[in-house]
Amino acid sequence: MTPREKERYSRQILFAGLGEAGQRRLIEARAVIAGCGALGSVQAGMLARAGVGHIRLIDRDYVEWSNLQRQCLFEESDAAEGLPKAVAAARRLASVNSGIEVTPVVADLTHANVEELLGDAGVVLDGTDNFEARYLINDFCVSRGIPWIYGGAVGSYGLTMPVIPGRTSCLKCVYPEPPSGAQPTCETAGVLNTVPAVVGSLQSADAIRILCGRADEISPRITTLDLWTGVIRQLHQPDRDPQCLACGQRRFVHLEGAGRAPVSLCGRNAVQIHERARPVDLQLLKQALAPLGEVRANEFALRFFPSPYEMTIFPDGRAIIKGTNDVGLARSLYARYVG
Ligand SMILES: [Zn+2]
Repeated sequence: MTPREKERYSRQILFAGLGEAGQRRLIEARAVIAGCGALGSVQAGMLARAGVGHIRLIDRDYVEWSNLQRQCLFEESDAAEGLPKAVAAARRLASVNSGIEVTPVVADLTHANVEELLGDAGVVLDGTDNFEARYLINDFCVSRGIPWIYGGAVGSYGLTMPVIPGRTSCLKCVYPEPPSGAQPTCETAGVLNTVPAVVGSLQSADAIRILCGRADEISPRITTLDLWTGVIRQLHQPDRDPQCLACGQRRFVHLEGAGRAPVSLCGRNAVQIHERARPVDLQLLKQALAPLGEVRANEFALRFFPSPYEMTIFPDGRAIIKGTNDVGLARSLYARYVG
């Protein structure tokens, strides 16, 4: 460590749990942040300041005005320029800590690129907004023995759980199947900015312990919190399920693209998401989307107009998104409004 690094990280080095050896490991470590929205902003900011030497930021979206309320790495100018979140975050972090390497990746995390993007990670932090991405991360990390930290935030509610392969249960032990139907999202149910701040910090705390070589000390637990009522709970993480498809049977179906609805371009400037195994109650979804703008629904289809796009959602979960040929953007809109 250089004298400048020793000075910079002195308050961490003084902390007995880390010490100089722990700090040295952080400087050499690589963390991957999957999704750079509200959770990812907090994680990236914490890990960059803590001196994690290599950080890869993966996000497929662009900074929007409505992100600024909670996505703490972004500024008004990022939204005005419509910068990719990963790029805007990397720029900001370069001015926070010039001594580390931050690599932005503007991409949709898929089974085709997961090896390239997560393969060298010491830890993966979940900053995604959908179960499809989380199952993919879980399968990859369990198959390769990489720890990852699940996290979610919506409304006033947040949740986090560490997955240490070989030691704790995995996401599929706890949730063998994704939730069915439309789910509340930050777009439909809103979110308090304090929730991702706390969840992202808890995830970062576990990540730092893992990266400094203390993964064994992390207790298997699920932390849930409601920052409106002030109720915070910790439950013991369920034991590993020997029948779990991922960590028990080691069948990593999501690495082959299972659970990921195929997508096709349909006509000019439209994308179809061929989800068929996820029945959606169109009347309930209509109620959830109504505060956001015009929405029409009958028993056959729901139409919604998140400007400049038009979404048509069918009862089996299939959707057509008009106004784009960008498959990643179409998936992002689906995740935002259907869950
Ligand atoms: Zn499992």
